[in-house]
Amino acid sequence: MSGNQSRMQAIAQITNRAPKESKATAPLSEIWACDVFNLATMEEALSKNAFKSIKNTVQTGVPLDPATADVVAAAMKDWAMKKGAKFFSHIFYPMTNITAEKHDGFIITNSDGAAITEFTGSLLIKGEPDGSSFPNGSLRMTNAARGYTAWDPTSPVYIMHTANGATLMIPSVFMSWTGEALDKKIPLLRSNAAMDKAANKVLSLMGESEIAPLNSSCGAEQEYFLVDENFANARPDLLLAGRTLFGASPAKGQQFDDHYFGAIPARVQVFMQDFEDKLYRLGIPAKTHHNEVAPGQFEIAPYYEAANIAADHQQLMMTVMKSTAKAHGFLCLLHEKPFAGINGSGKHVNWSVGNSTQGNLLDPGTTPHDNLNFLLFCGAVIRGVHLHGPLLRAVIASASNDHRLGANEAPPAILSVYLGDQLESVFNDIKEGKLLEKAVGGLMDLGLDQILHFERDPGDRNRTSPFAFTGNRFEFRAVGSSQSVSGPLVAMNTMLADSLNWIAEKLEAALANGTDQTAAVIIVLKELMEAHGNVIFGGDGYSSDWHTAAVEERGLKNIPTTADALPAFNEASVVKLFESTGVLSPVELASRYEVYAEQYILSIEVEAKLVIDIATTKLYPAAVSYMSTLTATTTSLSGMGIELENSGIANVAAEANGMMAAVNKLATALAENGFDSTDEHMKYCADVLCVLMLAVRSHADTLEGLVADELWPLPKYQEMLFIK
Ligand code: ADP
Ligand code: MG
Repeated sequence: MSGNQSRMQAIAQITNRAPKESKATAPLSEIWACDVFNLATMEEALSKNAFKSIKNTVQTGVPLDPATADVVAAAMKDWAMKKGAKFFSHIFYPMTNITAEKHDGFIITNSDGAAITEFTGSLLIKGEPDGSSFPNGSLRMTNAARGYTAWDPTSPVYIMHTANGATLMIPSVFMSWTGEALDKKIPLLRSNAAMDKAANKVLSLMGESEIAPLNSSCGAEQEYFLVDENFANARPDLLLAGRTLFGASPAKGQQFDDHYFGAIPARVQVFMQDFEDKLYRLGIPAKTHHNEVAPGQFEIAPYYEAANIAADHQQLMMTVMKSTAKAHGFLCLLHEKPFAGINGSGKHVNWSVGNSTQGNLLDPGTTPHDNLNFLLFCGAVIRGVHLHGPLLRAVIASASNDHRLGANEAPPAILSVYLGDQLESVFNDIKEGKLLEKAVGGLMDLGLDQILHFERDPGDRNRTSPFAFTGNRFEFRAVGSSQSVSGPLVAMNTMLADSLNWIAEKLEAALANGTDQTAAVIIVLKELMEAHGNVIFGGDGYSSDWHTAAVEERGLKNIPTTADALPAFNEASVVKLFESTGVLSPVELASRYEVYAEQYILSIEVEAKLVIDIATTKLYPAAVSYMSTLTATTTSLSGMGIELENSGIANVAAEANGMMAAVNKLATALAENGFDSTDEHMKYCADVLCVLMLAVRSHADTLEGLVADELWPLPKYQEMLFIK
């Protein structure tokens, strides 16, 4: 379609848009997890012994013996085939934010040529995708070319229904032939194990005798935009880059805040219902949904689950969200900043750690002893964020999240911790030695009891903090909406493991001196607070005062772009952190740096090409065509003796020329190569290409306000943002 036709057609079509017919949905009890081969389904399908064995594997991760694996595989196949599946697929999570799958049929033929089905334990447990095209950050070049997938039995298999039928999906890890992690799941499982081990040491020192395995939990709040597909189809930037590279601010944006928690448009309601039904079938506990701040923006939050399952579910949710949106005539945008000047989308990762015997260790308890455990775990997080702030920034770094972080709507690019008034003052008292006097003097009844008996701050909120304590968990608010939650979870679990190891060592030494337990805890926390208390900040994270004070007075780092953030992966302290906890070997870590850096560079280069293309082939022709119409009209009017005071041609010409000059500069800059290092190449993208893209955009957005509306080829912000 040429010129502005597709835009005009989109506008015409949207006028007649109606919600997709809403289907009456089945009760939750009928659909909940009906497509999941979970423990309840397995119990029905398996013999007592086989079930006992698989249950043990599911709950503790011990390997499954081959004989039981065969039995489980056969039961799984029967169950899946009854649900219409002819194929199965190991689904895995490469180092990018996507998921990958390779489908195989259950079918084999026998010597008579007849088709039979087969699915053995070894097929269930191990797959061999031709993974050579997945980014591996040189890992497989230095080792072996093959990669393989292996079922993660702690994450249940499920049926995925798509237009071409049902497939049995098997959540898997993805590794190189020599065992290096090529994915996001292996480090997550390892980080959990490291955290469990370290937490166990601390809890044992605290005199706990029965300690069940500890696990981390995650509840992710996902923000997203919906745009009518007719508009999206007329915007190559939305289709290919996931965001608008051009677009003047609409007369009405989000200034009125009338969208936040407002009534959900009917078309979106029907989409949400359909979407959530699909999630329920897959055993994903969708809990809340509402409008977000920007027009066309929404949020969904499932109830929290074990981190490994939550991470798999999060990926699955993004997939289902996009396909369901499509079925309802929307394009679902998970980009962190689809529209300049309008609020972006994040993914708040709520995180806690706990077990069945001590409960949630980030929940202040009802007794002073519980609260001592809580203070130690909370202190461990404070130390972790202070020591590894740059790492936390690096794991949320992407070309798209850079548009959001540091802007005054999202957490700043400075990592600090928000605790709430009450908890902050407890930690300050610890730092100043106030609690120690009481503890050492054995004056438990004169105050310490009370102080350690604090209650949670309900509803305490600081929306400007990137990392906030919210009563019984921490909320990492700076994570991007399109990102996998695994990276942030790995970083949080690992820094926690490291801090708990440090605490265990200090605590053991203090206790060995004969110091009483409460006093020992306070001594350790005092030392911790003196070194790391600087990272606690309860004020306005958006204010410019904080940006100055954080860096100049507190020595925290402000890390604005991915180019500044990713080099943290190569820091000796980070290499040591991951190696000492057994979460990532130095080569595995280095490969992640390479993959993420490459992704960053690629995303920016793709955007730069799109900017050049759209400006040259769509916007410039629109400006020229407007000028020629104006010229023809002014000439004929002039012939009739009518002179237009301001024909506007000069303004349009100046902007069009300015735009094309910027396009030429961008094209020249894009052709540059021969960088000395990846760091340098990333810096070039941030400092040169991004700046030139903005220069093109600035002229183009001015042109949008000058050229006749009927000639403008790209759907405008006000058209796309307000859903009909
Ligand atoms: P808000 O919008 O007020 O931040 P929501 O209720 O929308 O809170 O979402 C909070 C998320 O945190 C949900 O996914 C919830 O299940 C999750 N969550 C609650 N408690 C915990 C916990 N102890 N550990 C991890 N996640 C939690
Ligand atoms: Mg929220």
